[in-house]
Amino acid sequence: MTIKTLGFIGIGKMGSRMVPHIAATGIPIHVFDLNEDASKALARSHNNIVVENSAAAVAKAVDAVITMLPAGPDVNFCALGENGLVDGFSEGNMLIDMSSSQPWMTVELAGALAAKGIDMIDAPVSGGARGAEAGTLTLMIGGKDEHVERCRAVLEPMAAHIFRTGDVGSGHALKTLNNLLSGLNTVAAAEALMIGTRFGLDPEVMCNVINESTGMNSSTKRNMKEQVISRKFGGGFAWDLKFKDYKIAMELARVTETPVPFSSLGFQLYEAANTWIGDTSGKQSIEWVRWYEHFVGSEIRKPANDS
Ligand code: NAD
Repeated sequence: MTIKTLGFIGIGKMGSRMVPHIAATGIPIHVFDLNEDASKALARSHNNIVVENSAAAVAKAVDAVITMLPAGPDVNFCALGENGLVDGFSEGNMLIDMSSSQPWMTVELAGALAAKGIDMIDAPVSGGARGAEAGTLTLMIGGKDEHVERCRAVLEPMAAHIFRTGDVGSGHALKTLNNLLSGLNTVAAAEALMIGTRFGLDPEVMCNVINESTGMNSSTKRNMKEQVISRKFGGGFAWDLKFKDYKIAMELARVTETPVPFSSLGFQLYEAANTWIGDTSGKQSIEWVRWYEHFVGSEIRKPANDS
């Protein structure tokens, strides 16, 4: 059964950049966010976007709903809480959770929805706000083949790469492990650049060389130059979301009884930074490096005579 009308809940940094790609296909999209201004801004620039005032109202109007919310508990509340999706869904409707949610919650939620005749897949994304804006996200999709195939036409406009990962929840498991690696990449890159900077190397030159060498990682390629050496400490990924992803990965290690000494040490470093940051609202994920610089007592900067 083709999806003829779509719901999209969570018009934040990612959602606001993802919806326009689907809207460009012409499909009617009913949107909802606790921040109504975000939904209204999207509707102003697309005549096939309708603003709703609850998840239930979205569910009533559409065949399938995409959620792009902070984490699993928000998706659960949106689906099963007051004025939630289940109050509006009919049998055969579909939930596509694209948030980076806790995989075990996804499995449970899919079970609860299946009992009401509602299908669910998880399709978390990698590529950040930049990939969302460009429509070049990487999607990792868990769920039954027939459910995934039904959703392809609304997912493809946002993506450059679509991978099937297995049953429902498997996309979320893979996503959290990707983010565990990206967190550790930042730690490894910052330490190497710190040693080099203290020796007198230019960290930008270091990144240029490393990015053509075997030490390259996602952090030397992107955020070290763009956010640290530039001293901008910005980026589109909130500290709280990054820390949440790391916690999910550590919980996954615990429930799978997997010894992860290196990741555990990395997590301790993120916990230390989280305490040091204090009020994390408005802080970006790259803030970890600022804590590390404080801890070490120097900054990863270009040499003073080389601006
Ligand atoms: P965001 O905080 O910018 O957006 C989340 C939106 O959800 C907000 O607009 C908020 O008002 C809304 N919201 C929260 N609870 C709600 C509810 N119950 N009902 C309706 N709206 C609700 O977050 P984001 O950066 O867009 O990230 C969204 C998800 O994507 C997260 O799981 C994140 O980990 C993941 N992700 C983010 C990035 C990134 O670079 N920002 C990259 C990949 C994956």
